[in-house]
Amino acid sequence: MVVTVDENLKLKVASDSKDILVKNLYLSCDPYMRLLMTNRSSEIFGPYTPGAPITGFGVGKVIDSRNPEFMEGDLVWGITGWEEYSLLKSSEGLFKIHHTDIPLSYYTGILGMPGLTAYGGFYEVCAPKKGEYVFVSAASGAVGQLVGQFAKLMGCYVVGSAGTRDKVELLKNKFGFDDAFNYKEEPDLNAALKRYFPEGIDIYFENVGGKMLDAVLLNMRVRGRIAVCGMISQYNCDQPEGVYNLMSIVYKRVRIEGFAVADYYPQYSKFLDFILPYIREGKIKYVEDIVEGLENGPTALIGLFNGRNVGKQVVLVASQ
Ligand code: NDP
Repeated sequence: MVVTVDENLKLKVASDSKDILVKNLYLSCDPYMRLLMTNRSSEIFGPYTPGAPITGFGVGKVIDSRNPEFMEGDLVWGITGWEEYSLLKSSEGLFKIHHTDIPLSYYTGILGMPGLTAYGGFYEVCAPKKGEYVFVSAASGAVGQLVGQFAKLMGCYVVGSAGTRDKVELLKNKFGFDDAFNYKEEPDLNAALKRYFPEGIDIYFENVGGKMLDAVLLNMRVRGRIAVCGMISQYNCDQPEGVYNLMSIVYKRVRIEGFAVADYYPQYSKFLDFILPYIREGKIKYVEDIVEGLENGPTALIGLFNGRNVGKQVVLVASQ
């Protein structure tokens, strides 16, 4: 038995362990979680164990700890369980939250894994230059809305795609994208991209894969870069969709590079120094879609795959 209840009805971690007991406050819905429910789970995270609570990123409060780096009352973000309380066996990838003037839910998004993904993927993998033409798919989501805003800060021309008219308006009017379109209303994605990028695309921040990637390949400029962050359109497919226009990579000398956010964990404090002033000054906006109650988590998670979420999908489990 590693967790006990003391005489004050307080949960306690057994004294011979190194465990951290956390009360989960917010849980994050992330597309990669779908892959952990298949036999195509990523090489980074193992598949979920049937019958055990699923895991994911979340924000929590330390209730008790035998780990000297974490104390009762600390606020943390990192991998936790989809449950009210989690007993964390390892503090690997667990970050202490020091800036509490920012909403705690932001540590599932802009100040957490998706924020670091947008930062590393855009600034390092895309290697952007002022004036370049940038295209972002799933642009109103947790990662995409930030990539678009980073591209504007860099002085790029940025267009985003999203799946509803309201999301398109959000991209243009809230996040400052130069233009945006609803990919579901475009019968010919190649023609749409030619309309928005008559001179071609320098940088494609790839979030969706499939038909969009195929159309983008026909519209890349010479020495363009494609940062492959994810391919959500493929996560529910038993058989991945074919991508046919691969010779464009040769004709246009395109560099395609995948990346994983874990590569950027060592840069987390540098990332915070970069992003916090922008948030505090209101120069970077972040839209969240928060559902209340752990019981509503599964529907919220499934909603990522039909675009039900508007912005970062978060589940509020409990208040502090
Ligand atoms: P989002 O918040 O963008 O939510 C997912 C969105 O994807 C939906 O809202 C929907 O928006 C869009 N979508 C769903 N199905 C499809 C489809 N079939 N075709 C096109 N668009 C679809 O998610 P995130 O910002 O958290 O993640 C974006 C991408 O980044 C994902 O591919 C994810 O796997 C990846 N990722 C990769 C990381 C890494 O380390 N490499 C880390 C974090 C995320 P819409 O209404 O616009 O269709």
